[in-house]
Amino acid sequence: MIRSIFSKILLSHIGIILLSTITLTLFMSYLVRSNAVDTKRQDLLFKGRAVVELLTPNLLAGNIPTNESLDRISELAGGRIWLINEKGTVLAGQPPNNWSRRFQEDRQEYIDLFTDSPHSWIRPTYRRDPSIVVTFAIPEAPTPIVIFLDAPIVGVNKTVSSLERTLLYSLFASVVTAILAGFLIARSLTKPIANISQAAKNFADGDYNSRTTATGNNEIGSLGQTFNTMADSLAEIEQNRRNFLANVSHELKTPVTSIQALSETILDGLAPKPEQQQRYIATILQESQRLDRLISDLLDLSQLEADELSILCEELDLQVWLATEATKMETLLNPKHLTLQTVIPEQLPPVWSDPIRLGQVLTNLLTNAIRYSPEESTITIHLSATKHQVAISVIDQGPGISPDDVPYIWDRFYRADKSRARTYGGTGLGLAITKKLVHAMQGEISVDSQVGKGSTFTFTLPVIK
Ligand code: ADP
Repeated sequence: MIRSIFSKILLSHIGIILLSTITLTLFMSYLVRSNAVDTKRQDLLFKGRAVVELLTPNLLAGNIPTNESLDRISELAGGRIWLINEKGTVLAGQPPNNWSRRFQEDRQEYIDLFTDSPHSWIRPTYRRDPSIVVTFAIPEAPTPIVIFLDAPIVGVNKTVSSLERTLLYSLFASVVTAILAGFLIARSLTKPIANISQAAKNFADGDYNSRTTATGNNEIGSLGQTFNTMADSLAEIEQNRRNFLANVSHELKTPVTSIQALSETILDGLAPKPEQQQRYIATILQESQRLDRLISDLLDLSQLEADELSILCEELDLQVWLATEATKMETLLNPKHLTLQTVIPEQLPPVWSDPIRLGQVLTNLLTNAIRYSPEESTITIHLSATKHQVAISVIDQGPGISPDDVPYIWDRFYRADKSRARTYGGTGLGLAITKKLVHAMQGEISVDSQVGKGSTFTFTLPVIK
């Protein structure tokens, strides 16, 4: 991994360095050259004008200066000077070999030399500094004459090449730095990534305590923190799964053991009396019903957790709905001589809910209320409405729930009073399912309970807007 990240960083660094150095070199060379050319051109134009002033009187008089006098003026001007006529004949001075090459292709330019002046251009040379040429026309002379002044731009090639050399050195130094920096950066990047990936690998291999130490204050550190948070929740889920499995096995085992023991007793003839057998078979039936309830609850719960339980909400008039539901519960109230009282406000807006699932929620809460109520007490179903929701409370006069237990009663298999709740026939899944069903119908559920003063379970349903 370090190699691929290193090579990517290195390539990008070197690419940037090369690009910027080459651009800089080209730009600087251009600047140096054009600056040197401009200075030289100004210098030659200045000197050229002096030469023109010096030669004009003689030229107007038809006298062509001698080579010797031109040489002397050339020395003073710091460049070659030569004169030509319209035919291109050199009248005086010694021009460089290739001076006329420029005009072979463009005759017009040659003609222009005689009309307006001054003209200037760069004359390329082989391996030496380029020269700059300026020309001045003397059209008033008996035959029109052009004076050429040619001087090398001394040192420009040297300056440019020393500039290029300096930039080449800096390119070399930058590349070395890039390799070093690239390696250090790559290492600082790959080290925490390797740490995270090792932690993830250990986790995947079943070590649920595996966490990464790469939790620094940058993007990779935040990836590490996210990994640790994810690992925490996965470990918790795993722990929950194990607990759940242990609970399910335990809950299933108890009735099965009892059924097995009772049937063996009967089969082995250890309960010879018919009334004894009758009692045992009744218990077997009870335990089978408990198993059936437990399995249905487990199925519901697993569907709810997988979001697979179908919730079909519709507009519901709670008053009408409650009347039929309460009748269904009547038979359950009788054994304990309980009274069911309903308190419904006059104006009750319709709610958005699934009648079947709502029935399940109410049955669960009422079954608990009935289960924990003392004989001949009253259970109240109290409805109240606000603008956005209707609250339904199931109030009993039972033993209440201790504050220590309240936070856990919604957990799967949690029973406040373990031995008693089981004999009451509860599966310990009722409230867990109820809470999930209420949430699935966009409501909330809560409990208000005091030991010795009964419990009030309240859930809400959204009102149709
Ligand atoms: P169970 O099937 O055991 O009733 P639930 O999930 O319905 O399981 O309830 C969890 C626990 O909450 C019960 O075991 C009981 O201790 C407590 N509980 C629930 N409803 C009541 C109530 N109305 N009064 C007192 N305790 C209650």
